[in-house]
Amino acid sequence: MCIPNGAPATTLTIMNNNLKRITSIRFIFFLLFFLAGAAGAVSMSVGLYVSGKEDILDSSSRKLLLSYSGDLAERIGKEGFVDNPEEPVISHELRNLALLYDGRALVCDDSLRIVFDTAHEREGTYLISDAAVSAVRGHERSDVDEEGICVIGVPVIAEEGKPTAGALLYSFSEEKQMQQVSSLRNRIISLLVIFLVFLVGFGIFLSKRFSRPLMDISAAMLRLSATDRNDPIDVPVPYSEIREIRDNANRMITKLNSVDESRQAFVSNVSHELKTPMSSMKVLADSLLSQEHQSEEVYREFLSDINTEIDRENQIISDLLTLVKLEGKATSLKTEKVHINGLAEIVIKRILPLAEEQHVEVVVENQRDVYAEVDENSIIMALTNILENSVKYNKKNGSVRVTVNADWNNCFITIRDTGIGIPEESLSHLFEKFYRVDKARSRETGGSGLGLSIAYEIVKAHNGDIKVFSKLQKGTKFVITLPLVASKKEVTS
Ligand code: ATP
Ligand code: MG
Repeated sequence: MCIPNGAPATTLTIMNNNLKRITSIRFIFFLLFFLAGAAGAVSMSVGLYVSGKEDILDSSSRKLLLSYSGDLAERIGKEGFVDNPEEPVISHELRNLALLYDGRALVCDDSLRIVFDTAHEREGTYLISDAAVSAVRGHERSDVDEEGICVIGVPVIAEEGKPTAGALLYSFSEEKQMQQVSSLRNRIISLLVIFLVFLVGFGIFLSKRFSRPLMDISAAMLRLSATDRNDPIDVPVPYSEIREIRDNANRMITKLNSVDESRQAFVSNVSHELKTPMSSMKVLADSLLSQEHQSEEVYREFLSDINTEIDRENQIISDLLTLVKLEGKATSLKTEKVHINGLAEIVIKRILPLAEEQHVEVVVENQRDVYAEVDENSIIMALTNILENSVKYNKKNGSVRVTVNADWNNCFITIRDTGIGIPEESLSHLFEKFYRVDKARSRETGGSGLGLSIAYEIVKAHNGDIKVFSKLQKGTKFVITLPLVASKKEVTS
């Protein structure tokens, strides 16, 4: 549609509203219903209208009438009806002929004396008309006089070769027939108009009835969008397809609610985690300021604590940024064929100082050389997070074993520790952001509960999987599965 430049806003609104109305299911349903009904009714009426006209005016109808009268005249002759006009079958048929066009049938003998009259008025009198004279002389004739009376005269012959025994005359008013036809036509038109009006009313009723559930669902959605409450749509729907739309919308609302809840939880967790190091720094700085003439040693100690808190704050922010990047749609992995055993060695080397500090032994067991198409830096980050946990949440003189293995399709990296273990009820929450089993203990170790979420997102981005098996006070086992060949979708360079 072309909207003229500078059209006033109200004109545009009216045009939009009209377009909305025309393209609505309600209108289209009404239109189809009306068109189907109207097409049927109009074609039927036109048929009746035209057949009414043909019946009277068409010459073929008149020929048919002549032939019917001729057959009847032949039977009148054969049965000797002229001499025996009481004969019931033929008199009955003559009355039927008279009824045909609301006319009159007469039978006269060869002297033009009327022996039978369907109107029972002129029996015994004589007929004087051109059609009667012609018919008695043996010629069929049909005339229409100035008053519109149509007269058909047919000779009655008793036996072939013999002179006519009389004549059959049939007369009817063509004008009267025309009047009847025209009144019939008027009735057809009035009935058609009444039917069309009824069709409009019924069409509006049906279209409203069918579109009502859709309108109700739409109104319920509008109400939802206007409020903060995300209650499910509770509209009764009798039709299965629309019921499906409602149920799917409710599923979407449930999902939106859960996304909303997790977003709120995430925001409150982020604020809390970012606030904790800040509060510690504030306490340290305040106590330094409140103490006058302190030794350089005390200043150094406080500043070193503040420095640790700054590192922690930095770590949380960079973990959050990593997570946001991994969860974003634009996650692009730079995958290449990497020696996974070598990669495990790199991670272990990084973790060794922490392991020595915690008196934990870290051993690598390479069952075979494994190469896989992975994003090296991301996988190092994921392994570091898991291995760091295995050292952090271990016991003094404990150990961590790293195993690298593969089958035809996948590579398996297993990290098994002899640490404190994880309670069963915590296992399903382990990869949630900010989740920590023992909040107080994690605080001591400086964890914020983001390490495993990052590892999980990285493995998921590789179309891999992480499984955890743990026994309290016995140890924990993480099994990372990665496809050996990166799927095309994730390969970007
Ligand atoms: P950070 O973000 O610094 O890694 P974090 O280590 O506390 O902090 P995650 O690595 O996500 O966070 O681990 C979540 C929680 O799971 C930990 O706080 C810890 O309670 C538990 N956990 C993880 N790995 C182990 C393990 N090997 N043994 C025992 N508990 C573990
Ligand atoms: Mg961790």
